[in-house]
Amino acid sequence: MAKATKQRYCYAFEEGDGTNKKLLGGKGAGLCTMTQIGLPVPPGYVITTEANIEFLEAGDKFPTDLMDEVHEYMEALEKKTGKGFGDPAKPLLVSVRSGSALSMPGMMDTILNLGLNDETAQGMIALTKNERFVQDAYRRFLQLFGKIGLGIVPVKTPEGTEEDKFDKIFEEVKKKYNAHVDTELSAEALAEVVQKFKDLIKRQTGKPFPQDPWAQLFLSVEGVFKSWEGKRAVDYRRQFNITPEMAYGTAVNICTMVFGNMGNDSATGVGFTRDPGTGENKLYGDYLINAQGEDVVAGIRTPRPLKELRIDMPGIFKELEKMHHTLEKHYREVQDFEFTIEQGKLYMLQTRNGKMNAWALCKTSADMVKEGLITEEEALLRIEPDMLEQFLHRRIDPDIKQEPLAVGISASPGAAIGKVVFDADQAERMGNQGEKIILTRIETKPEDIHGFFAAQGILTSRGGKTSHAAVVARGMGKPCVSGAEGLDINYDLKEARVGGVVIKEGDIVTLDGTGGRFFVGAVPMLDPELPKDLAELMEWADKAARIEVWANADTPDMAIKARQHGAKGIGLCRTERMFNEADRLPLMRNMILADTPEERKRWAEKLTPMQRQDFVEIFRAMDGLPVTIRLLDPPLHEFLPSIEELLNEVNRLKEFNQILNALEQLPGTLAILDPDLHKYVPSIETVAREFSEFKAKGLDQKLLKQKETVLRRVRVLTEYNPMLGNRGVRCGISFPEIYDMQIQAIFEATAIALREKIDARAEIMIPNVCTRQELVWVKPRVEKIHKEVEKRFNVKIKYKLGTMVEIARACVRAARIAEVAEFFSFGTNDLTQGTFSFSREDAENKFLPIYNTEGILRHNPFEILDELGVGWLMQHAVQAGRQTRPDLKIGICGEHGGQPQAVEFCHRIGLNYVSCSPMRIPIARMAAAHAMIKETKGGAGRSKSL
Ligand code: ADP
Ligand code: MG
Ligand code: MG
Repeated sequence: MAKATKQRYCYAFEEGDGTNKKLLGGKGAGLCTMTQIGLPVPPGYVITTEANIEFLEAGDKFPTDLMDEVHEYMEALEKKTGKGFGDPAKPLLVSVRSGSALSMPGMMDTILNLGLNDETAQGMIALTKNERFVQDAYRRFLQLFGKIGLGIVPVKTPEGTEEDKFDKIFEEVKKKYNAHVDTELSAEALAEVVQKFKDLIKRQTGKPFPQDPWAQLFLSVEGVFKSWEGKRAVDYRRQFNITPEMAYGTAVNICTMVFGNMGNDSATGVGFTRDPGTGENKLYGDYLINAQGEDVVAGIRTPRPLKELRIDMPGIFKELEKMHHTLEKHYREVQDFEFTIEQGKLYMLQTRNGKMNAWALCKTSADMVKEGLITEEEALLRIEPDMLEQFLHRRIDPDIKQEPLAVGISASPGAAIGKVVFDADQAERMGNQGEKIILTRIETKPEDIHGFFAAQGILTSRGGKTSHAAVVARGMGKPCVSGAEGLDINYDLKEARVGGVVIKEGDIVTLDGTGGRFFVGAVPMLDPELPKDLAELMEWADKAARIEVWANADTPDMAIKARQHGAKGIGLCRTERMFNEADRLPLMRNMILADTPEERKRWAEKLTPMQRQDFVEIFRAMDGLPVTIRLLDPPLHEFLPSIEELLNEVNRLKEFNQILNALEQLPGTLAILDPDLHKYVPSIETVAREFSEFKAKGLDQKLLKQKETVLRRVRVLTEYNPMLGNRGVRCGISFPEIYDMQIQAIFEATAIALREKIDARAEIMIPNVCTRQELVWVKPRVEKIHKEVEKRFNVKIKYKLGTMVEIARACVRAARIAEVAEFFSFGTNDLTQGTFSFSREDAENKFLPIYNTEGILRHNPFEILDELGVGWLMQHAVQAGRQTRPDLKIGICGEHGGQPQAVEFCHRIGLNYVSCSPMRIPIARMAAAHAMIKETKGGAGRSKSL
């Protein structure tokens, strides 16, 4: 009778295509699959999501053939079970369960025991000889059916709480019989509840409770159908961007009831095929003897761990263990399932992919590869690169419920406990004594860097994710909370206030950089825990990947960490960080302030050994791997005191000189005022004498002159727009002594390392290049120093000379630049600034948020690489550069280098490596593997056009 093209709305569990979650919903698909792979599922069928959509589109009307089909499928159910729908002699009871492609709170869920009415209830009592059980089932049905089928939903009370009329009645009866828990209610008491529920339904709907099971069934299906457009479900889909492509409509599952509450040989439970907390390959879950499904989650009685079922019901436990293998073999994923045992017989009621924490996900993925269930690539794809972040840092124990004192921006992840210290020098002093420090500042500056080294964590009351504090802390892998605006810091009083709480220097606080919070006192925390299986997964990732992962590392410590995390080289070693250390900054200042090249050279020579020592140690850490050293990059004034600071000092010195003059007169003056005064304060004379000696030597004037000279020099060096000013290679050309010193330090360090049999591979990187001519200018100086050092140390030194590509023009002229440069490294921070003509701080603080909300720019291009603009320039530079020099090595060393999306882009345009902060290396390695696996799967070409 049915035509081949007839729309079909129902599928028996034996028929439905378990891979089609869109049509059958997740729950329905699972029930079909389980049935078809031979697991014991109570008979049932699925009404499709398409039926739901047609129903809604027709203005809440059942599609024409649906009723007929449901009748057909109910008859089939009757046949399969040998029971009759509405037949008091052998009543068939079913559950009606919603389920869309994605699980979605807010939709009507499940009605149990549908098919009960006064007659079938009596029939059940006769059959089971258990009136209490039947009355209990009846009242459960009435409540769920009342809500879903008849729309008697909880209402808001004037106090704003939700009131469920059924619950209220139930509680009243419990009170009447002095019952604390449901199980204490007798059959009579439950029968009273049933009667009261029926009365309630009549009051609410104006009609008696429908005794006809068919009416019950269609009202229930209708209720579930309508719930798809219910406000909560719609809001949920909007909030989580669930599009119709992902889930459209809900299916309705009709499933024969089985009872876990039929005595002590019955039970109900939920389980995981593996422990979702540890990943251990062991059945995990809870069950309750003599209970119905929802009781396990409802917390009425405390469920027991599944492993005890081995003792309670050994046969069933064995069956469950077997089922675990069947399920995993089929799904090749850890499963989360529901089961019920009815009088010694096991039934499966649901299965879905299990949600696990990151640790368990790593373990189960690695284990499943070893068990032959999945491939290495499938295991890798399960692990979202960003997820690895949580393994790398200490974290606040999630079980601790202490309230934070203030909340700011999570600027750099991790957690730390330490004493609050408000300045960098003090932090360094206390740090040297082995104290744990939280450097706490309104904001930080480059001259605070020694405080960063000494501190466990950094806290600032101002600044965002890109503030100095945030960027430096991230680079060092230290936790940082920035912009904790509730924090009122007073440097003079050495205290910070939050509301009424005062924190003094030395007070212990706990910083949670991951959550952007901070606490008073020491909050318990968990150490970073690398899953045992991560190393193995990482090996597979490296094997799968094409693009390499290098590290941005400025210090020997960072280099060691980078190598531990699997870096294949250093892609960016910033030499200026080395000059910010307390013992070097004065030398650096003097070098910059020098008036003549000769004087500058003298100061530079004092810096050479220090820089050389750093390089030697980094070479040791990176033995056999390339180390890309960038010559000085930032504008020089960054190393100098500010003009205001200097003006203040000059003025102070001038005042001081006036006081000196006054003091010289003082003894005479005092003698006139009170001839005896010298008896009481004899030191005044002495002091005055000392001051005049000081003056006689000309020290007063000398100091003043010094400061005035510095001031003059700083004024000369001050630029209108330092980021676009005399920096990078331009500065290297204006003050050649600086680059000479650095180049010499690099080659000498290489020579020293080579003597120690360390395979040192320096790659000298010139920043801020815009034209080939700049490199042509630098190159002979490098070669000259190279030759000189080789001769002096009597060794052969191999090296490479390359450039940062961070200026738009350099991308455009890449073909010519590659004639001189042996490698490129994209500096995407500056390149992004230049391409957009945005200065980063201004953009992020002023207008980017508006651009985001107005939909003008979807992302912050400093966080998410702008593939269409900046990426286009990069791709051009790659192609042009390789045309000149086919083996041109190209990497990226901007902050984007550790972002999974950017890694994938760099992979696509054919870069050789990405370089990122040591802490992000595992993330980038995983992202690199994903990029390659996706490319192979998608069949995309090597440099897919943008
Ligand atoms: P949810 O999506 O909220 O888990 P379910 O449809 O899975 O909703 O059902 C709620 C509870 O009822 C679960 O514990 C489930 O195992 C149980 N249940 C559903 N159908 C049946 C049935 N036919 N027999 C016995 N218990 C059932
Ligand atoms: Mg369920
Ligand atoms: Mg730069």
